[in-house]
Amino acid sequence: MTDILPSYVRGQWWAPSEEPGQEAAPVVVRDSSTGEEVCRLSTAGIDLGAVLNYARTTGQASLGALTFHQRAVLLKRFAQVLTERKQELYDLSRRAGATERDSLSDVDGGIGVLFTYSSKARRELPDGRVYLDGPVEVLSKDGSFLGRHVYTRLPGAAVQINAFNFPMWGALEKFAPAFLAGVPSVVKPASPTAYVAEAWVRILVETGLLPDGSLQLVSGSVPDLFEHLRLGDLVGFTGSASTAERLRSHECVQTVGVRFTSETDSINASVLGPDAVPGTPEFDAYVRQLLVELTTKAGQKCTAIRRAIVPAGQVDALVDAVRAKIAERVVIGDPRAEGVTMGPLVSLEQREEVRRSVAALVDGGGRLLLGSTEPPEVVRSDGSTGVAERGAFVEPMLIGFADASAPAVHQVEAFGPVASVLPYATVEEAAELVSLGGGSLVTSVATNDPSVAATLLSRTAAYNGRILFLDRDDARTSTGHGAPVPHLVHGGPGRAGGGEELGGMRAVLHHMQRTAVQGSPEMLTALTGVWHQGAASRTDRHPFRKPLSELAVGDQVVSASRAVTLDDIETFARFTGDLFYAHMDEEAAAANPFFPGRVAHGYLLVSWAAGLFVDPEPGPVLANYGLENLRFVTPVSPGDEIRVVLTAKQITPRETDEYGEVRWDAVIRNQDDELVASYDVLTLVAKEPAGVSP
Ligand code: NDP
Repeated sequence: MTDILPSYVRGQWWAPSEEPGQEAAPVVVRDSSTGEEVCRLSTAGIDLGAVLNYARTTGQASLGALTFHQRAVLLKRFAQVLTERKQELYDLSRRAGATERDSLSDVDGGIGVLFTYSSKARRELPDGRVYLDGPVEVLSKDGSFLGRHVYTRLPGAAVQINAFNFPMWGALEKFAPAFLAGVPSVVKPASPTAYVAEAWVRILVETGLLPDGSLQLVSGSVPDLFEHLRLGDLVGFTGSASTAERLRSHECVQTVGVRFTSETDSINASVLGPDAVPGTPEFDAYVRQLLVELTTKAGQKCTAIRRAIVPAGQVDALVDAVRAKIAERVVIGDPRAEGVTMGPLVSLEQREEVRRSVAALVDGGGRLLLGSTEPPEVVRSDGSTGVAERGAFVEPMLIGFADASAPAVHQVEAFGPVASVLPYATVEEAAELVSLGGGSLVTSVATNDPSVAATLLSRTAAYNGRILFLDRDDARTSTGHGAPVPHLVHGGPGRAGGGEELGGMRAVLHHMQRTAVQGSPEMLTALTGVWHQGAASRTDRHPFRKPLSELAVGDQVVSASRAVTLDDIETFARFTGDLFYAHMDEEAAAANPFFPGRVAHGYLLVSWAAGLFVDPEPGPVLANYGLENLRFVTPVSPGDEIRVVLTAKQITPRETDEYGEVRWDAVIRNQDDELVASYDVLTLVAKEPAGVSP
């Protein structure tokens, strides 16, 4: 008998202290290929209320001590350590039926999520703990009352209930944004692959880098978990629609306000465009993609293609092409054997579930065009071959439907290497079929015809979280129908669970609360760390002489004035080659409703502004790397004067560098104090004066 797989809770590894009684018999987890026992799961006696409290207290405190960037740097370290120990995870995943390629999506995919979130966070989030959303709203005439939206982290625990098919990637795509937001995670893996989740958690625990309470793992069932949830906690669920529905209806979600999002099984579609006939690169790409989706993870992917929607005249050609590819490429067997390209399903229970779903599809009007539910010929771990006697093996199947609108095909998900083939006559009909799925995570379209793509986009986007257009240009570089990327939405409407919170920085913000904050410029500056116009400023010393260790928001330089002459405008025009009539032709310029006559180039003004505000000697300012939000407001005519006020607005020391970023608020005004231009200047500034090492 194997040991009980431990949980990692309240800062230590935990397992039931006594052999659980009959009423709480452990769940036995078996090897997907051989049926051997891998481990047992039991949470008998676990105090889930205390687990959540540990997250809300210790976890919140330790993550709250870090800024977004410090958390991002830790995510990168986690990714590096997991990369070093990748082979252990690959080896273990084989027990769950994962081939080398399957682990590429789960193990490497999970590590990739950490790397991506780490670098995106350092680029897109400030090095603070509060995220500012949108521009300042000026709410009083004199500018002394402002409003803006801020995001602050939720005060509770992020409970992540995961599916069995991606024990690593599926968990890390939730853990990474929660960690960045500063919300501690309680990870609940699905039972059949809980031992893979235990392995990556153990690796992270062994680094000693995890902030206390930032990650807890519960290996086994959590029957009363929802009883302990309260406002400020959130749940991210992946799994079946029925479990999602049950959990969502819990009182803590319905009335208390626990955020609940789900990503559930969806009947994803892939449309072969009418132009993508055999012999075109799009047809080939479509066939390749369908094969990948059928066989990766043995089709146990929430994003896999379940409905191949194909021009009526191409059904036979498609089935023939897939049959040929399967014969050429697919070797079913134990992932530990050489050359195996498709492993078993995760468990015998799951195989029974797939068989039941295939029977339901056939009863609903389908006909098996390819493959069967009988045990297939497989390669065993010792390299011998024969009909599978043990293990959860099934072969790839295509099920044809003469009536493409038969309800079963749009409702029954066979969570395995199974896709249905649906014929269509017009692109509009293809779009209608896509939408009959009732909401999907993803639809892909193989077409080289933008009008086909445009029709499908406009008619199906509302039913999909993601749409991938496959053509001859991206066929080789596409990340694929079934591969969500951490930059983009992973979720979908309706049957897909309704989620759109995963993907990009919105996933971080999902773990935070957006609040409208109103107050004076001084107060908003103090609360956000970002200087707001109207707040106090200092002009004691030129701010370009100050390294980050001395610079503060509000440090300011007010320039002298400079008069603009016609000669200057003409010199600039000839020097740059910008002879646009508004600068060079008095009559034409005066005829333009926006100009009183010839005016100075906006770029001349911005260049002059730089000349007016810089302090030219070598110093801590290292580089100017751009401008943002540049607006020209009032035109400047010969005879006008301009001056500029430059104020340090936001200071972001870079965690891993000897310098940081300074965003400066730049405002150019004319002799009448009218606003000429406003923009942000972005610079890199040394943390310490030259010669001083930190
Ligand atoms: P489930 O919905 O049963 O389980 C999903 C997760 O929810 C598991 O971690 C499970 O834990 C957990 N869970 C179950 N009951 C509770 C509860 N009362 N409180 C808290 N957590 C709970 O899905 P399965 O894994 O059994 O898969 C069934 C079907 O779901 C598949 O056949 C497929 O159709 C679909 N599916 C969809 C996926 C997707 O990514 N969208 C992924 C995987 C499956 P435990 O395992 O311990 O019961």
